[in-house]
Amino acid sequence: MTNKKIVIIGGGASGIATTVDLLKAGFKDITLIESEHKLGGLAFAFEHEGKDFHTGYHQILESDKPILDLFKLFGLYNKISWKKTDNVIYFDGKIYDLLKIKDFLRFPMSTIAKIRFILFMLVCYTKKNWKDLESVSADAWIRKIAGQEVLEKLFAPLFDIKFGLKASEVSASWVGSRLGAKEASCRFGAISGKEWTTELFCAAKQYLEERGVKILLNTKAEEIVSKDGKITGVKTVAAFIEADIVVSTMSPIILNKLIQLNDPILDKITYIDSISTIISTNKTVQNVYWLMLMRPRQFSGGIFKLTDLNPTLGNNNEEILNFFTNVDHGSELLKMSDEELLDSYKKTYYEIYKEELSINWYKINRIPFVSAKYVKNYKNPDIRTKISGLYLSGNYMSYPSVTSTGTAAATGHATAKMIIEDNLSA
Ligand SMILES: Cc1cc2nc3c(=O)[nH]c(=O)nc-3n(C[C@H](O)[C@H](O)[C@H](O)COP(=O)(O)OP(=O)(O)OC[C@H]3O[C@@H](n4cnc5c(N)ncnc54)[C@H](O)[C@@H]3O)c2cc1C
Repeated sequence: MTNKKIVIIGGGASGIATTVDLLKAGFKDITLIESEHKLGGLAFAFEHEGKDFHTGYHQILESDKPILDLFKLFGLYNKISWKKTDNVIYFDGKIYDLLKIKDFLRFPMSTIAKIRFILFMLVCYTKKNWKDLESVSADAWIRKIAGQEVLEKLFAPLFDIKFGLKASEVSASWVGSRLGAKEASCRFGAISGKEWTTELFCAAKQYLEERGVKILLNTKAEEIVSKDGKITGVKTVAAFIEADIVVSTMSPIILNKLIQLNDPILDKITYIDSISTIISTNKTVQNVYWLMLMRPRQFSGGIFKLTDLNPTLGNNNEEILNFFTNVDHGSELLKMSDEELLDSYKKTYYEIYKEELSINWYKINRIPFVSAKYVKNYKNPDIRTKISGLYLSGNYMSYPSVTSTGTAAATGHATAKMIIEDNLSA
């Protein structure tokens, strides 16, 4: 059975994880196709004057075991350096680090609201099972436990800037489980002297090719072909690639254009896109990694100082900032011109720091399909589809976890496990 022909569509974290596991299980005929000129997917980097830069903030999450396992497999784990970064919020003209007692006390919220906020966080840290809150909206639940003031001042703006969602759309179980995972207070990793996604995906390419995987870059899947309910292959512009098994790691919106599945769970999934701009400047007053712009609402949801986490990222002592904005998939805002975007960044920067932002160079990345909207009653689609031999994987299947490289890799592992079960179990 290990001689089955397998095609994996997509060379992001989930596609790499699936491929690694299928190789380990003994499958020999695996082709990985990727429409871009290199692997990485959403964890993509671009080159400027010979150096690689993230298209947007990208930190290795200490809690993300599946991605750390890939670092280990490719011999890169010991190169990771870890940092506990300062992550702060901008609120009505002032900056607060809410993990610091002094800042928490001076944050403009009533004492009652602060006490209820602490109680709410304790509930998130101690609750183990979130199933009962899946159909409850985050706003109703937060209002009930923490109160309206906490909802209005902290959580509603946070959901808006970070996930592009209203508090009434988000499920309480998702919010609670994420807060409970303490993502905001874990250490972040990077590789000194390098941009880590490039390191990881170059190493992945080498590892897979040395073990016989065919990797076809610049190769776009145009159709997934089936006959009598069974997969027969994948059509690309240049060729028809025969397959017994196909794994799609593409967003369901793209997948639906390649094959008709008529699956109501897939059809319901909606996305946010991002406008993520990298700016090189000679000096910046920002002295923290992550500044979230909570109130008043700015066009940008936040500013990351990427050189705080990885000082070797830029050239010649330049500082690298990342302004990012999440928008609905296909939003008109994606059409804003470079000038309009840069103007808005400069205004925001001046409003916060009362200093001009001087720009050496910039790169605006308009990134589609950044993450599925994990709305109330969200359901991860089944890994198996109604077409025999067609399996799904990808970061839209990681609910209720954060959508990261690690949770994407976890979906890849889960998909491989199912393929192995279906094809190799006696
Ligand atoms: C700005 C930004 C910041 C982020 N920050 C972090 C972070 O700090 N830490 C972290 O761990 N994660 C972060 N993430 C999330 C993480 O990058 C993603 O969740 C993860 O990389 C998704 O992997 P995936 O394999 O599921 O999907 P993708 O990476 O989207 O992979 C799908 C692949 O399919 C390819 N494809 C699509 N259509 C076709 C086709 N027709 N034919 C062939 N190939 C096709 C795409 O090119 C892509 O390579 C961030 C993402 C963004 C955009």
